[in-house]
Amino acid sequence: MKLNRKTLLLSLLLCLWLSASAHAMEHDMLKVGIKYGSDAMFSANLQNFDGAGRGYDFGYFDARRQFVPLGAGTDENKISVTVDTHVYISGSVYYQSAVNYSEYIGAYHLQLAGSYDEYGDAAAVAAEYDGGFVAYCTDRYVVRVGQYRTSEGVARALEAWTGAEASAVSPSRTGVMVTVTGTDRILFYFDCGGLRSLGISPRSVSGEKPATWFRGYRYYGGFEYQRVTGGNMSVVNVVSIEDYVKGSVGWEIGNDKPLEAIKAQAVCARTYAAMQTRHRSQGFDVCTTVDCQVYQGLASANELTDRAVDETAGVYMYYNGKYAEAYYYSSNGGATEDAKNVWNDEVGYLRGKSDPYEAHVASRIPGYHWSAVFTGGELAAKLRARGIDVGTVRNVYVSEFTPTGNVYSLTFVGTSGSKTVYRESCRTLLGLRSMRFTVGTDAPSYSVNDGKTAVSGIRGAYLISGTGEVSAYDGGAEDVYVITSGGTAKPESAASGADAGRFTFTGSGWGHNVGMSQWGATAMAELGYGYRDILEFYFTGVTIQ
Ligand SMILES: [Zn+2]
Repeated sequence: MKLNRKTLLLSLLLCLWLSASAHAMEHDMLKVGIKYGSDAMFSANLQNFDGAGRGYDFGYFDARRQFVPLGAGTDENKISVTVDTHVYISGSVYYQSAVNYSEYIGAYHLQLAGSYDEYGDAAAVAAEYDGGFVAYCTDRYVVRVGQYRTSEGVARALEAWTGAEASAVSPSRTGVMVTVTGTDRILFYFDCGGLRSLGISPRSVSGEKPATWFRGYRYYGGFEYQRVTGGNMSVVNVVSIEDYVKGSVGWEIGNDKPLEAIKAQAVCARTYAAMQTRHRSQGFDVCTTVDCQVYQGLASANELTDRAVDETAGVYMYYNGKYAEAYYYSSNGGATEDAKNVWNDEVGYLRGKSDPYEAHVASRIPGYHWSAVFTGGELAAKLRARGIDVGTVRNVYVSEFTPTGNVYSLTFVGTSGSKTVYRESCRTLLGLRSMRFTVGTDAPSYSVNDGKTAVSGIRGAYLISGTGEVSAYDGGAEDVYVITSGGTAKPESAASGADAGRFTFTGSGWGHNVGMSQWGATAMAELGYGYRDILEFYFTGVTIQ
């Protein structure tokens, strides 16, 4: 979802800034985590048959993320990378347990004695045996033969073996194998004890850049299959940062926006990606969700987004010689905000200012003007969910605005105390779209307890006095009695009722208001500004180069 940028904790922000490099990226390849954690895969299918690609090379990505090929690769266009274990295949789907399968890959093999420096030497030996294949195990090539279901099975095969000296091998916690999709044909096996991961690079034909299908999306670049500690594999797209940005900008700002706005977004996306370290312990730089930036290969890319990325290739945003954290959001409702007033972080280039541009496109911004209504009881529940108890909320008001007119603090007055929340909490506590709002309060009402548990509001009621006079109920409670189904009762004040009135929050904008407004950028582009103008407006004092 491109509308609402995530919120970041203070500690994370500090961590990011401390680690921000003072120079351009040390390498121009990015690792994007596609499947990892609970989404890690038992088996991953790749397809590479439309247009520019044909076949794959196998190898690994070195410390500089350059692809190092191992062996001869394959001309096959549909391959699968699978965890080293028993594999049951039905069609092109791979299972760990026996299902209604048509193909099976055994987890035990014979391994011939000796190892080879050169793939070709191992491959020549493997070719001499039916079911022979080459395995790359910690910097050496070895030859394996056959597939067996059990350790007993491979032991019997070894006894009957009449070929060169051999031993039996069991499945490895860190091994992965490449097969022709839907078959038991093993093309390559890789196991470096988790110290290195199998890399696969699609081949190109006719010099065009190949794009590989994986799980319904096409990706530029190669893939890495990380199986470091056993279990399933993490799948990582290893892609040039420019191709990554091409895949992200369309999701983040829309691939139908004006060119200069997309270019501004491209610089933000590139800079953001270049400085990320938060996923490093997971083996990659950025994930594919709003946690980082949305990325699904080429799905949102088109000629316009490609052009925007190409025309800003290699351009990053800096502040005092370091990457500037390029925050953005959908719209700000009229003014950006200091990071200090949102996240309590003083950041030189994240300064609040009035935004005269959004107004030009406000009518086209979905949900730009919004309102939300809460009862006092609902507000009390929201507070309690954060561990704050002020009793039933009788009043809520903005206790301080920032100099640009955004909400800085919000005070809740309840039956057993009051509480003021500050900065971003004013928005997130209530799930409001932006921090640019006002609060309208209905006059506090009186409620009557009907003797059970329900409480009925009587706001707007008319009173009949003892002498028959009719008058509008003005909220006073001293001489008022209410007749209920259970008899006559004294109305209780809001103080002890459940419904203490309704509060209407009316605002504009959607997002956290720190950094660039994507709709403001759109408006600026339509007014003829270039991407540098856009970035320099939203990020105070940055250098774009
Ligand atoms: Zn992430």
